[in-house]
Amino acid sequence: MSVPYGQTALPQRVSIREVGPRDGLQNESVILTTANKLRLIDALAATGLAQIEVGAFVKAENVPQMADTTEVFASLTRQPGVKYSAIAPNVLGARRALEAGADMVQVFFSASESHNQSNVNMSVEQSLANVADMSAIVRAANRPFDAVLSVAFGCPFEGHTPIERVLELCGRLLDLGAEEVTLGDTTGMAHPSLVQQVVQAFQVRFPRQALRLHLHSARGAGLANILAALQLGVSEFDSSIGGIGGCPFAPGAPGNLCTEDMTHMLHEMGIHTGLDLPALMATARMLEQMLGHEVPSQTIKAGICKHLTG
Ligand code: MG
Repeated sequence: MSVPYGQTALPQRVSIREVGPRDGLQNESVILTTANKLRLIDALAATGLAQIEVGAFVKAENVPQMADTTEVFASLTRQPGVKYSAIAPNVLGARRALEAGADMVQVFFSASESHNQSNVNMSVEQSLANVADMSAIVRAANRPFDAVLSVAFGCPFEGHTPIERVLELCGRLLDLGAEEVTLGDTTGMAHPSLVQQVVQAFQVRFPRQALRLHLHSARGAGLANILAALQLGVSEFDSSIGGIGGCPFAPGAPGNLCTEDMTHMLHEMGIHTGLDLPALMATARMLEQMLGHEVPSQTIKAGICKHLTG
């Protein structure tokens, strides 16, 4: 089934993974208490989200915002049908994620050497060397193992990321046991033409493999990039409540794509998300209170179009 769009058709349903509690909060200077993180995650789980990225198992001294991820998992009020996931850069992190009770584990590393060194202090080959062991450990625990490839559309240190390099790394990740790959536009360098080039190349190389995109809005192209991907049948996306998670390379700029802005656009287009948009907006407003500042979300400022005329 599909939704008409000009001469083409778009997916009728989109699946959104909420990354605010991890990717959003880890870029915030305000560190939420464990109790407030739990309130945020509980509110998100009540909006219909099927997957919420709860935290990261990384060195606490590097990412203090994620230091309490084990405690957050231990205190979750789990809602039926919601998968609570975590990311990990290595075998130790994957073990900690499983012990904490993560429903899914994602390994993450960068498509460029300099970003990977900066982010996880490893070469790309060193990151890949972890993947086989992580995959075995996670799958032995009967839980899904996925991969997130960062800076897949451009690197702030190296510029253009060669598409062939992205495909090579995706192939190795899939060979090493990743069930799904997410391509990340980590610092918002993608544009619609590039999204279509990368997605088409992926679909040609891996015709039976679903693809998830983690797009950013750092330069305002986030929703245009979503549309470009929808036109090629991509139906799985990451986004962050309120659009939190400012890009560390562009201070003050919005970073992660905003969950309620994307949801509003999709609903207006007739595409189903399964999400309760007013509940998402209420959650974003609650988050503003917790953080003590406005969030980048446009929809909580402008309102839902369908509600304007009653
Ligand atoms: Mg992000």
